[in-house]
Amino acid sequence: MQPIRTAEIISVGTELLLGETVDTNSAFLAGELAAAGIDTYWALRVGDNLERLKLALSGALERSDLVLLTGGLGPTDDDLTREAIAAVMGETPEIDAELEAWLRGRFSSLGREMPERNLKQAWLIPSAEALPNPGGTAPGWLVTHTAGDRSRLIVALPGPPRELYAMWRDHALPRLQLSGSDLYRLTLKTTGIGESHLADLLGDLLNEANPSVATYARADGVHVRVAAKDDSRARAENRAQPVVARLRSLLGDHVWGSDEDERNELIASTLRQRGLTLASAEGPSGGLLMATLA
Ligand code: ATP
Repeated sequence: MQPIRTAEIISVGTELLLGETVDTNSAFLAGELAAAGIDTYWALRVGDNLERLKLALSGALERSDLVLLTGGLGPTDDDLTREAIAAVMGETPEIDAELEAWLRGRFSSLGREMPERNLKQAWLIPSAEALPNPGGTAPGWLVTHTAGDRSRLIVALPGPPRELYAMWRDHALPRLQLSGSDLYRLTLKTTGIGESHLADLLGDLLNEANPSVATYARADGVHVRVAAKDDSRARAENRAQPVVARLRSLLGDHVWGSDEDERNELIASTLRQRGLTLASAEGPSGGLLMATLA
């Protein structure tokens, strides 16, 4: 199978479209993919509807080497991720004896009888391998989709974030042959300049692809993120350095920190270094300034 370079995330669940659940799973997976040097060009949210799920999945398979699905692996009729994958693959799910034994064992270890509807969590299709779920009853699926000389991977992960994190790190990620490229990222944090002025100042730098430069307006000022990709982290960092130097000279004193720096911590540590103390008489802020620095 050729290395994975592009990925796409499909979050499944009507509650995501109603605004009842915030889609933190796709944010987590997007971060994981970026850290592994994989380009994610699309992330979709689809309700619990078989036709729309099939449509989303077939589109994703045309565009991307890897499709990650989250949610819809529960036991009820509106949990349709397995059905959608099976339909797109043209395969019929069958109960896998090993998974069934594991599932029944899981219920009996909890002192509960397994409702028969949970049996669908023991389904597999011929192209799928089950991914263990030590924290729940829904195993994941790792599916290989081959069309002509092109192979794609589908990974179906459970919706509950704790189950998803564990399955991704312990079972999905180790099975994926990722591109081997590495990402270097640096965020410069600025103050005293708005996003539009900053964009004017940076000009063409914002149109570069590798390294890419992007701006984000945040509560503590506008962040400027540089990201470079290469076949090792050192090479990616080297690639980013000239752009970082240029940004630092363009932004000058507007830059107050980078990456994990927090403004309150910087102020407190600067005061400490200089042997200075700070007193405040707070009215409208009700002590917030001191609470923040403390
Ligand atoms: P289960 O076996 O628990 O039914 P599932 O794989 O079918 O798992 P869902 O039923 O789709 O997952 O979601 C279960 C719960 O997980 C949701 O109620 C929600 O709290 C959380 N969840 C689902 N999707 C997401 C998401 N994209 N981001 C954050 N939380 C999510």
